[in-house]
Amino acid sequence: MKKTLTIVIASGFLAVGCHLPGYSAIQERAPTAPIAPSPLDRELVQVVRRTEQTEGVVERVCFGLSIMPESIKEKLRQRKIHFVITPTQAEIGNQEGGCSFQPKYRRIVVPETIRGKPIQLARLSIITLHEAGHAYDSIVKGSQNPVFQAAYFSEAGRVPKEMRQTFKHFLQEGNKGPVECFASLFARKYWRGPDALLDALEKHFPQSYRFVQELESTPGNAG
Ligand SMILES: [Zn+2]
Repeated sequence: MKKTLTIVIASGFLAVGCHLPGYSAIQERAPTAPIAPSPLDRELVQVVRRTEQTEGVVERVCFGLSIMPESIKEKLRQRKIHFVITPTQAEIGNQEGGCSFQPKYRRIVVPETIRGKPIQLARLSIITLHEAGHAYDSIVKGSQNPVFQAAYFSEAGRVPKEMRQTFKHFLQEGNKGPVECFASLFARKYWRGPDALLDALEKHFPQSYRFVQELESTPGNAG
């Protein structure tokens, strides 16, 4: 398996270029062969400090990026939003926690370790897309669009009782529900491989999903 990591110093961080031509483990789960990470992908990913886990995390983040259209990544780049891979959230001055989009710092933080445990790699590409969905949402205000909100609240109200626990992240009170639902429907749009949660979300929020699908005309290569 040939891998090349290009590391350059950039604005106090290590910026990582990721050329991942044959990462078979995640390729198997993907519906189509991944495209090579673009120069834009390399610009969007920064590593605070390398550890034994960094390479695996970078691979999954870069795979998530590789199935997003360049037009969306360009929007992130223009707003100086980037992914920061760090050993822990605490190491960059945050409270301990998981992956998060932090609009104040224009960054999506991906910690390699969360509360003492290594981050789960299996869904990390999907989580990458979800967090990118939050960043994209902060630009286009999709979750606040009246058309999306009407679809979301109508469909959220019809989620059957037995699914409400599974969807509790997407059914949070106030603005959190639509914001989280938007981010995962964004992930679903580009992640066309099987995923139990995304499959169920698409099924129960079809109108909300249609809104997200129609937002950006350029399809993801995984569609
Ligand atoms: Zn989220």
